[in-house]
Amino acid sequence: MGESIVEVRNVKKYFFLRKGLFSRKQDVVRAVDDVSFEIEQGMTVGLVGESGSGKTTLGRVILRLLEPTDGKVLFNGVDIFSLSRMEMRKLRRRMQIIFQDPFTSLNPRMTVGDIIAEPLKIHRIVRGRELKERVIDIMERVGLRGSDYNRYPHEFSGGQRQRIGIARAIAPVPEFIVADEPVSALDVSIQAQILNLLIELQKEYKLTYLFISHDLRIVRYVCDEIVVMYLGKIVERAEKDELFSNPLHPYTRALLSAVPVVDPQTKRRRIILSGEVPSPINIPSGCSFHPRCPYVENVCKELVPELREIKPGHFVSCHLAEKI
Ligand code: SF4
Repeated sequence: MGESIVEVRNVKKYFFLRKGLFSRKQDVVRAVDDVSFEIEQGMTVGLVGESGSGKTTLGRVILRLLEPTDGKVLFNGVDIFSLSRMEMRKLRRRMQIIFQDPFTSLNPRMTVGDIIAEPLKIHRIVRGRELKERVIDIMERVGLRGSDYNRYPHEFSGGQRQRIGIARAIAPVPEFIVADEPVSALDVSIQAQILNLLIELQKEYKLTYLFISHDLRIVRYVCDEIVVMYLGKIVERAEKDELFSNPLHPYTRALLSAVPVVDPQTKRRRIILSGEVPSPINIPSGCSFHPRCPYVENVCKELVPELREIKPGHFVSCHLAEKI
């Protein structure tokens, strides 16, 4: 095992919603509920799950863009939730985010040059003429033309806008990037170009990624390890090849069964899950997956399964993992 750059320890993020305008009663949304894992330096961990699984909320809590309800996130051994606003500001240079939607994540009133220069100015990394040179250098590194420095985001295609978002994230030379569905808003033909760019930049800058996606094809392409979330909890976690060849949780199996296989000789039976993801306000008792699970037994409805290490490095939260 290499050294962990990020350690997520028992993180919870609950949202409290008033039941009505004049009511004192509250609903509790357990968006992230007692999640722990770590990310080794230079690795890419994929965080997958359907919409409503809590993956995007968790990504934001890890960067402290959202305050946690409980738990710790250690970045190079430092508990980021204990840092003052000033200390956190300094640390931000080293932890960046790439957003899903390149159409709304860029300020339409700023030129591309100013957008990419902004984090360099905020963190006082370079100034003056050197600043423009650095920005042009980064633009060219991500496949944009330096001559586009004074153009505005609306003048670019979706793929180019995502390159601008990536340039802004890598400009301050971070160590860790949360990439939140970075290609899901793009045409399939452009997705591979952006993924390859992220892989190249990772090698060049020795970056560590947390890659959030609902698309297992994409996660398989870029990630070393995969964490599967369902209703705010981790249900399975393993190294990529192990997870794809030996998925143990029924939810992971269902997700994988929907991924097209390249080899026509390989036959995979599609598992269709019944029902929708339950509301995170009304999480089912016991194993929260039990209303949709084809293997459900009585124990599943009563006891919350723990995340257990079934094989070295392969964790699963299912009472019947050894049987099914
Ligand atoms: Fe299915 Fe039971 Fe395992 Fe939950 S604990 S995934 S309901 S078999």
